[in-house]
Formats: sequence, C-alpha cells, structure tokens
Amino acid sequence: MDAITIVGGGIAGLALAATLDPGRFHVTVHERRSTLPAVETSLAMWPEAQKALHTVGILPAIRAAGSGFEAMALRDVSGKAWLRAEVAGVIGVSRADLLRLLDSAVPESVTRVFGAVTSLPGSGLLVGADGVHSTVRRSRWGSRSAERLSPYLALRGIINEPVPEDTGGEYWGRGELFGIAPASRQRTYWYASYRSDLGPGGIDSAAALELTRRRFSGKAPGISRVLAGATPDGTLAQRIWTVPALGSDARAGAVLVGDAAHGMTPNLGRGACEALVDSATLAQLLNSRPLPQALAAYNKRRLLRSQALRVASSAMTRLVLAESTQPLRDGILGLAGRFSRTA
Ligand SMILES: Cc1cc2nc3c(=O)[nH]c(=O)nc-3n(C[C@H](O)[C@H](O)[C@H](O)COP(=O)(O)OP(=O)(O)OC[C@H]3O[C@@H](n4cnc5c(N)ncnc54)[C@H](O)[C@@H]3O)c2cc1C
Repeated sequence: MDAITIVGGGIAGLALAATLDPGRFHVTVHERRSTLPAVETSLAMWPEAQKALHTVGILPAIRAAGSGFEAMALRDVSGKAWLRAEVAGVIGVSRADLLRLLDSAVPESVTRVFGAVTSLPGSGLLVGADGVHSTVRRSRWGSRSAERLSPYLALRGIINEPVPEDTGGEYWGRGELFGIAPASRQRTYWYASYRSDLGPGGIDSAAALELTRRRFSGKAPGISRVLAGATPDGTLAQRIWTVPALGSDARAGAVLVGDAAHGMTPNLGRGACEALVDSATLAQLLNSRPLPQALAAYNKRRLLRSQALRVASSAMTRLVLAESTQPLRDGILGLAGRFSRTA
C-alpha cells in the first residue's frame, strides 16, 4: 500500500483523509490542535463545496446543522440598502460543526497523530493541508512561497439572537466592512474588517472588539445592536494573511491543498469551499490514477481556478475596503440600486 502523510487535520486535511481509498493508501493525518476551535464562527458553503461534501458523504448532516441564506443586501454604513440579491442555495454552517462532521467521516484505518509537525517525512506522498502558514509549503516550495501579511484585521463571532429585522447583509464604508448573516439555531453571525496595525499574532479580542465598537459607533443601528451582543470570549480577531502564486500546487513527492496552496483574502467567502473542492478532486484523482498522472491532473484542474479566485478575492477586497475611491464606488452602487428598482 502507498503511504500518504497529510500535515494538517483542518477542513482540507480531514476532507482528503475521508475520501482517499483505504484499500489503496495507508493514510496518516498530523494535527496540531487537540480540540475544536474555541470561538464559534460560520462559513458560507457555495454549491461547488456542497458537491464535495456530498462526495465525503456528509451533505445531509451539513444541511441539517446549517442554515440557508435566502437574500443578501449590500448596504452603506448607515444601513441603507443599495442592492438586494437572491443567494438561494448557499448554506451557512459553523466551522465547529463542519470540522466535527468531516472528522466523523474519516475511516478508522487512518492513523491520527496529534501535535505540531516540525520535521517532514521523507517517504510516500506528503500533503500540505496545514493552512496559510504552511510548514510543507515553506520547506518544499522555498522562502519565496512565504505567506504575506495584509494590512487588514478581521473580527468574527456569533451572538445568541436571531438576525434583527432588515439588518442582514454587508455594509461597506470608507475602508471598512461589516457583515450580518444568519447562523444556525436562530443565531447571528457577524464579521468586520478594516486596516489595522494590531498584531499580527496574539491579538487581544477584547481590545479589538472595543476598537470595532468605537469605529462603527453612530453608524447603522443594526451594527450597533449586533456589536452590543458580542463578547470578547465569542470573538475571533486576526490579521489576514495570503499566499503568493506558486506556479504549481503539486510536485514529485508533495502536494498542497486548501489555504496552504492559495490562502486568499476572505472577501469572496470561498477559501474553505475551495479547500473542500481541492481535497475531493485530489482524492478522486489519486484513487483512480497512478501517482505522477494524478498529480499532473490535479495541477491542471485546480491551479488556474484557485489562483483566479485568489486574484478576484484581492480585487474584491480593494473594492470593499476602498478608501480614496469610496465616494465614486458608492455613487456607482447608488445608481445601480436605483436602476435595478426601476428596471
Ligand atoms: C475572516 C474570515 C472569514 C472567512 N469566511 C469564509 C467563508 O464564509 N467561506 C469560506 O469558504 N471560507 C471562509 N474563510 C476561509 C477559510 O477559513 C479557510 O480558507 C479555510 O479554513 C482553509 O482550510 P484549510 O484546511 O486549508 O486550513 P486551516 O483551516 O488553516 O487548517 C489547517 C490545519 O492545519 C493544522 N496545522 C497547521 N500547521 C501544522 C503543523 N505544523 N503540524 C500539524 N498541524 C498543523 C492547523 O492546526 C489546522 O487545523 C474565511 C477566512 C477568514 C479569515
């Protein structure tokens, strides 16, 4: 049997371990974390990711645990909606539920090792599923592949009340973003992003929350209401990191999946979705083809799409968090909103 070592038992690593053929591979997953993330956050699962979850065999359980998005409004920071769009078919699921369900789909035959990997195994296929700060990428793709710090801070959390009426959607201000969406069990997921020099590591969530309350004070009433219900213990604050274009996600002996390959800004809400699609695609290729052909086909199928999304996501970040061009952007959005209402 061929050996596959997966470094990272997050979304990408668990999805891969759950879908590799246990009759063909001896799979080992190394994961540094011993418990689920302490702060609950939510992830939007787009249709392509749902197909991957179907392959893993957990789509019905994800549907049952998550909540459906129906409509999404794009607003200015006073709360006025420029545009409203249908987003039927997207499921919001808590990261903890997603990780728990992926974990339950991993077969018993997979060897689980807990603790951070510092030295990488030399035999068999090595899979870097170890996120944006990937040890596998740095060691096999070199120092030019090192992650890059963006100037943006992101905060996320879930509060224990349903979305207040007519407040859901994304609020775009001058260099700032706030989002309000339904989370499972009648709760509300919120997120915020803006430029900040807090961090990059060890950001105190109480200080970040206080900064965010001050920044959004006097803006849309929905934002103030959600921030009033947020607590430091229920808030995750982190700087955003990205991965440069690598040229290839697979080489002889090593392959990258998820954020390790294409860590992107979160403005398209696609990182976890692409991690799932990477893993389902790689497993299907490894299960059905000899190793060199499977890796070549993986590069061909995934590289262009994931890098295109990475670029689109950065462009989206510049649009959403626009500073000097914000009046022009808002003018265009205002006109687009008026046009869509009269059309
Ligand atoms: C603010 C924000 C909002 C987002 N919203 C969305 C969204 O709505 N929808 C969406 O699709 N995506 C979203 N994302 C992106 C999403 O969170 C990531 O793309 C996703 O978590 C990537 O999964 P992964 O498994 O590749 O990496 P990770 O989730 O980072 O998992 C990597 C795993 O590897 C482990 N690990 C790392 N190093 C080692 C080591 N040396 N040894 C052992 N284990 C190791 C870690 O403990 C971790 O469990 C968002 C991201 C942010 C920051």
